[in-house]
Amino acid sequence: MTKPKVLIIGAGFTGVATAHDLALRGCDVTVVERGDICNGTSGRTHGLLHSGGRYAVKDKESAIECIDENTILRKIVPQVIEPNGGLFIAIDEGDLAYADQFIASCEECHISLHELTPQKALQLEPNINPNVLRALIIPDGTFDPLRLALAFAATARHNGAQFCMYTEVEGLLMDGKGSVIGLKTLDRASNSRHELYADVVVNATGAWAGQITGMAGLDAPVKPTPGIMVAYDQRFVQRAVNRLNVPGDGDIVLPQRRMVVVGTTSFDAENPDYIPVTEDQIKIMLDRGSDLIPAIRNAKPRGIYMATRPLVGGGSGRSIARTFKCYDHKESHGIDGFVTITGGKATTLRAMAEKTADMVCSKLGVSTPCVTKETLLLSYRQYYTNPN
Ligand SMILES: Cc1cc2nc3c(=O)[nH]c(=O)nc-3n(C[C@H](O)[C@H](O)[C@H](O)COP(=O)(O)OP(=O)(O)OC[C@H]3O[C@@H](n4cnc5c(N)ncnc54)[C@H](O)[C@@H]3O)c2cc1C
Repeated sequence: MTKPKVLIIGAGFTGVATAHDLALRGCDVTVVERGDICNGTSGRTHGLLHSGGRYAVKDKESAIECIDENTILRKIVPQVIEPNGGLFIAIDEGDLAYADQFIASCEECHISLHELTPQKALQLEPNINPNVLRALIIPDGTFDPLRLALAFAATARHNGAQFCMYTEVEGLLMDGKGSVIGLKTLDRASNSRHELYADVVVNATGAWAGQITGMAGLDAPVKPTPGIMVAYDQRFVQRAVNRLNVPGDGDIVLPQRRMVVVGTTSFDAENPDYIPVTEDQIKIMLDRGSDLIPAIRNAKPRGIYMATRPLVGGGSGRSIARTFKCYDHKESHGIDGFVTITGGKATTLRAMAEKTADMVCSKLGVSTPCVTKETLLLSYRQYYTNPN
């Protein structure tokens, strides 16, 4: 029997996780990506495996998604995660005033939390601000972004998915009834143009999703929302250190390999390909980062980079919810064969893929259930050692 054919545009977290899910459900999957794995936002993410604590007060839907998926990812892909925990610290009266609301909200969202004395917090993390007034531990973690994506891609490939890298989508192929039936692509390695056909096309291009829906004459379902990160050349802390307050700029310091990375900002942008790194944003990272870890003030910057969140919903910057949305363009615009998934976070990649694959399978009449919650992922190395 021929398998139903699905083309996925984009090999970021969302595209590779969706390829993994659909390959397990028996679809013939091809991922089409204009660069390589993690060419877009996923390759420049901060790397916080969110417990949801950061969103618990204002965005409970995202907080619960995060704690649920954090627990699942620790089981299915432990090889790319440092389960090191997150420390929320209060260093002024404003932080102290926020603490009780934070604790109550974490409890409501089932995010486990325990309090340390300031002395104990300083014993665990001697480089945090010595004026710490209150310290709470929650189950944050850190992940290696490239390896996380590669582990999903390796497993998808093992189950038959194909990966067409350096292949840019230039247009959608439509039939006479206005349904999407494939893609017009440019192979950037050979500089040749091709047509690829499928039963369903999935637009998993993150902050670029509006450019792809634009090819079908549809409005952007996504708001590109960039942020800066600055890496410093010493691993000052072993846990993710967060400011115990309303989420703001530069209020998370994350250990990554032998560095710490301070992030981030959140503002609106038009074009995700051209996001300038500005001096004022670098200064915010330095000032706010050194409020949490004073030694950052004299540390050597190792890298400064921007990435663009693909957010959905109303508002702007930090007021936009961090949840995700999946669109069947037949329901919203009468265009069949075309699905867009956008929004969300790295931490929720598996759940985003499940929702998308459910939608694709229902369009294709495939009834195989999702098994990604229980499927252990292969080593990220196998993406390269086991090509199909
Ligand atoms: C500053 C910042 C910090 C963040 N920190 C965290 C964090 O700590 N923890 C967390 O959980 N989440 C974090 N996130 C969110 C997370 O990084 C994103 O939600 C996630 O990377 C989005 O993945 P994606 O696959 O949807 O998009 P992308 O990774 O951008 O993938 C889209 C892909 O589509 C490709 N593409 C675009 N156009 C075309 C085309 N025409 N043809 C072919 N391919 C195309 C691009 O090359 C790209 O590879 C952060 C985001 C930002 C911006």
